[in-house]
Amino acid sequence: MLNLENYNRIVEELIPYDAHLIAVSKTKPFEEIRKLFHYGQKYFGENYVQELISKHSILPEVQWHFIGHLQRNKVKQIIPFVSLIHGVDSLKLLEEINKEAAKINRIQDCLIEIFIAKEETKSGLTPEEAIQILSGKEITGLKNISIRGLMGMATNTKDESIIRSEFKMLRNLFDEYNRDDFNILSMGMTSDYKIALEEGSTMVRIGSAIFGERAG
Ligand SMILES: *Cc1c(COP(=O)(O)O)cnc(C)c1O
Repeated sequence: MLNLENYNRIVEELIPYDAHLIAVSKTKPFEEIRKLFHYGQKYFGENYVQELISKHSILPEVQWHFIGHLQRNKVKQIIPFVSLIHGVDSLKLLEEINKEAAKINRIQDCLIEIFIAKEETKSGLTPEEAIQILSGKEITGLKNISIRGLMGMATNTKDESIIRSEFKMLRNLFDEYNRDDFNILSMGMTSDYKIALEEGSTMVRIGSAIFGERAG
């Protein structure tokens, strides 16, 4: 169930940090998304390509962010409309996005996902791999992508010091490249967004606090 009280509180909490809110609507019905969109929420995040496509077809006016793990063979389907792809974790994927964006004359905004957690379930590049891509020659040839910043997920733990140190590490890496259009740091979800904001997040991705717990 959509929780507007929580939503309003989170929007207020973001103001002093000047951070953006991505309402993570995966598995949630489009009626609730529509309701929140008309209430004033602009950006929504989805994890699954098919779900994103069907929700976009119903609500094309929403700015859709893809926050899941993107397979190369599905890139083509979302490039025509997706605002920001958060979880790019290889040069090959960047090249595919560039290729498909070029075909339709778009410049696709992307974030590089960095592996910061102490959990093997999370994906992303190591800082060293990311630096290699961001400083490499290949990237300058990709004219139809714009790398707008970094994204990361902290360890799922109650130990705040671990979460904080992971976000700090991501922020430090971000600061090495932070300039002009490289200015988005996507970190923080329902359980840890306050720590993420304190550590310099510019974009939080929040689902369950807004839409309620997901089944399963
Ligand atoms: C599901 C998801 C979120 C939101 O998680 P909540 O705990 O519901 O806020 C944020 N980021 C990513 C990458 C997700 O997959």
